[in-house]
Parts: sequence; structure tokens; C-alpha cells
Amino acid sequence: MSRIELKNIVKKYGDGFPAVNDVSLDIADGEFVILVGPSGCGKSTLLRMVVGLEDITSGDLLIDGKRVNDLAPRDRHLAMVFQNYALYPHLTVFENIAFPLRLQKGKHSEEEIRRMVHQASGMLELDEHLDRKPSNLSGGQRQRVAMGRAIVREADAFLFDEPLSNLDAKLRGQMRTEIARMQRRLGITTIYVTHDQVEAMTLGDRVAVLKKGILQQVASPRELYEQPVNLFVAGFIGSPPMNFLPARVSGSTLHLPHAEVTITGDLVEKVKGKDVVIVGLRPEHIKDATVETTPEHAVHFTAVVDQTEWLGNEQYAYIPFDADRAVRDKLDELDRELDGEGMHPQLIVNLDARSRVIEGDEADLAFDPALMHVFDPESGDNLT
Ligand code: ATP
Repeated sequence: MSRIELKNIVKKYGDGFPAVNDVSLDIADGEFVILVGPSGCGKSTLLRMVVGLEDITSGDLLIDGKRVNDLAPRDRHLAMVFQNYALYPHLTVFENIAFPLRLQKGKHSEEEIRRMVHQASGMLELDEHLDRKPSNLSGGQRQRVAMGRAIVREADAFLFDEPLSNLDAKLRGQMRTEIARMQRRLGITTIYVTHDQVEAMTLGDRVAVLKKGILQQVASPRELYEQPVNLFVAGFIGSPPMNFLPARVSGSTLHLPHAEVTITGDLVEKVKGKDVVIVGLRPEHIKDATVETTPEHAVHFTAVVDQTEWLGNEQYAYIPFDADRAVRDKLDELDRELDGEGMHPQLIVNLDARSRVIEGDEADLAFDPALMHVFDPESGDNLT
């Protein structure tokens, strides 16, 4: 097993701006770390530098304290598990797992190979399938064969590059659980690249969010959700996404499109001198005041609901609002960075199934101001 340290890692292709820009990340022995971000943010490049498929322009890569920048991929003892699993269709499961051992010609006796393959197949619950060909296996079983191959190589870490992106939603869900279970059982250091936030939130001990090659935040899934450091992370994590509302500042009062909030403590100082800030509220933190509020939901407001969607166990209400031109431009830019098509100035509210709010109604809504985020509209930093 291995500790993997990235110190100020930079990757430049040609003269353009760096694909990976000064990334530092310390991955503990046995830890499961997710690299996540929109298309082109540099996550695959980062993974390929760790495994040795791409040169590092500057910075240091350390495995168990040893600098490995110039070490050939095969000498790094890392196993990359690809999207298509790269199994040999004409070989049985046994031979697919044994393949890397046979490549090390003469290093292992036949008996040793049998022992190593059986040890891996036992761990991965593949014993019953050793004589089958990959075409007769489920997607999850194929994934395990690919992991088995990594295990017999006695790899110190697993690296996954979007392994589930070719699968349909149901299989994806099953495989996700399977990978999480295997990684916990084996306790092998793992780096996993995805642009899927459900994978990011459910698989990793920690999640590293990248934007244009720059690391934005590295934290546990819960911390990312509850304390995003900036607008980008707040908008990337969560589905439906966090609502961003323009708020005019006057002293210790924030004037939101439908509500007014009194702020206290440090925040009053932090917003001083700003005309407008951006308030972030998660859809599920806004409640129907007639059915589901507690004393903490101290900010009450009414708003006309434009549209509702009822999903059985929950429902969504959509409430349009006007946004200041400057704030709108900022939120539009943010939405494009998040691979969206521009911002829709509407509040999304995720209501309890008991709520009877319907389209055209003036709804009584409420939220807990302690769950509100306040962002600097210039830097995007979270001030709360
Ligand atoms: P995706 O989710 O779309 O795979 P990613 O986050 O993995 O994206 P990378 O593939 O690491 O992103 O690419 C990061 C940036 O580097 C992109 O702007 C990409 O165009 C650029 N890039 C990647 N590989 C090369 C290359 N071989 N030559 C030049 N530029 C490259």
C-alpha cells in the first residue's frame, strides 16, 4: 500500500494555459480520493501523470516518500483500471487475472500463479467464474476481473479513470456500490476520476474539486456539501443545484428577491462596502411554512409559484425572480463554467410530499438563515 503526494504539480501542453496548475494533494495510505470537475478541468491529465503516462512539467510526485517523476510506469507499482476494463475476450477469467504474472516470464512457477490467482479471485468472489470468458460475465464481474489483475500485480494503488461512464444508470449504481465495497475490503489507496457528482459524493473518503486545472477544495463529501469554499464548488455539488440569489446589502440587512434577512457577527463586516452579494440556499432548505417548519426556520416569505413537479416522495416548486444585470452576468458565467447553458433566474424549492402548494399559488415559505451561504460576487468566495 502507498501514500501518494502531489506537490505543486503543473502540466503544460505547448504554450497554452496549464492543464494542471500547481496542484498539491496528500493521499493517505488506504485512502479513497475522488478527482471531480467539469469536462477539460484536468482530472485525467492529473491521473495520467500519477501513473506515468504523461510527463510532469514541474512539481514533485512522491510515492511512499520517494520522488517518482522520472520512474517508468511499470516501476511505480500502480494499477490503472480503464473504462472498458481492457480484458482479453479469448482468455478465461483465470487467464485474464494470471496475465500480468505470465508477462513476468519465469518469475513465477505455475503453482505460484495458481495460488495468486485463487487468492485474488477469493477476495473478489470470482471463484465460481474462473473458467468463463469475459463475454459471459456481468459488467460488475468484469470490473472485478480487471481489479483482480491489479491485485495479482500487487499494485500499491488503484487508479480509476471514469470506469462507469459507458454503463446505463442501473448498472452504474450497482457497480458504484461494488467498487466502494471492494475498496473498503482491500484497503488499497485509490484515486478515482469522474465528472459524476453522485459517484464523487458516495465513493470517496475525500473529494478534490478541480476547475481549469486549479484545485478548488479538497474535503469530505459532507464538508463540500455543507461548507463549499466558493460559488463554483457550491454550484457543482448538489442536485438540483444550490439556488443563487442576488441580495442588496444595507447595513446588516440583505434584501433578497422575496425575503429580507438580518445578518449578524463577522458577516456584517465582511459584506460592508458591497452593494450586492450572492446568497446561496439549497432547494431542500426552503420549507412550506404551513406543513414542515421548526423555530429555526426564522425567515418567512411569500412567493407566487410558477410551476410544480410532484415525484411521489417529494416535489419541486419553481419561482421566478428578477436579477440585477451584473449579478446575472456573473451567474451566467458561473453556469457556463459548470457546463450549463446559462443561468435561469428562478428559485427551486424541494418540498416535502405533504405540501399542497400548486401552480399559481402564493406559497408561504421559510428557511433557516444559519443554512444560508453568502458569496462575494467578485471573487466568488464563500463569506459565511
Ligand atoms: P474530460 O472529463 O472531458 O475527460 P478532463 O477533466 O479529464 O476532461 P483533461 O483530459 O485532463 O480534462 O484535459 C485538460 C486540458 O488539457 C483540456 O483543456 C484538454 O484539451 C488539454 N489536453 C489534454 N490532453 C492534451 C494533449 N495531449 N495535448 C494538448 N492538450 C491536451
